[in-house]
Amino acid sequence: MTTFHLGDFLAVGFSRMKEYIEEICEKSQEEVCGLIIKNKGKIDVIECENMSSSPKNSFEINKKDFNKYFLNFKILAIFHSHVNTDENFSKKDLLMSNEIMIPFWVYSTKTKKHNFYIPHTVNKKLYQKQLHEMCSN
Ligand SMILES: [Zn+2]
Repeated sequence: MTTFHLGDFLAVGFSRMKEYIEEICEKSQEEVCGLIIKNKGKIDVIECENMSSSPKNSFEINKKDFNKYFLNFKILAIFHSHVNTDENFSKKDLLMSNEIMIPFWVYSTKTKKHNFYIPHTVNKKLYQKQLHEMCSN
């Protein structure tokens, strides 16, 4: 788990978090997944175990882990990596993000690119600057 100051996320942007996510995703041959939570003015990036039975092509966060953070913190985004495909979200990714109303962040170890998706049910204003930054590289 790594902690970032909330200001980095809301004002400065994603840069340090991007580096950190790249670092942990590049270490694995399988999809890496985790949660980005708001914790008392700070942001924690929490790597979770990928419970999927085909972890090279999909991810599944342990339900106990998810519920623990969901009940006690605001989950700002769920991140995962793609190891066999580019940074485009799968249909399943988009469906899941819309369903649970939490933005998705993906990093492809293949293309070395990030992608960010905000469900239509979430306040986009909060993420606008970051989204712009995310899409501009
Ligand atoms: Zn995916």
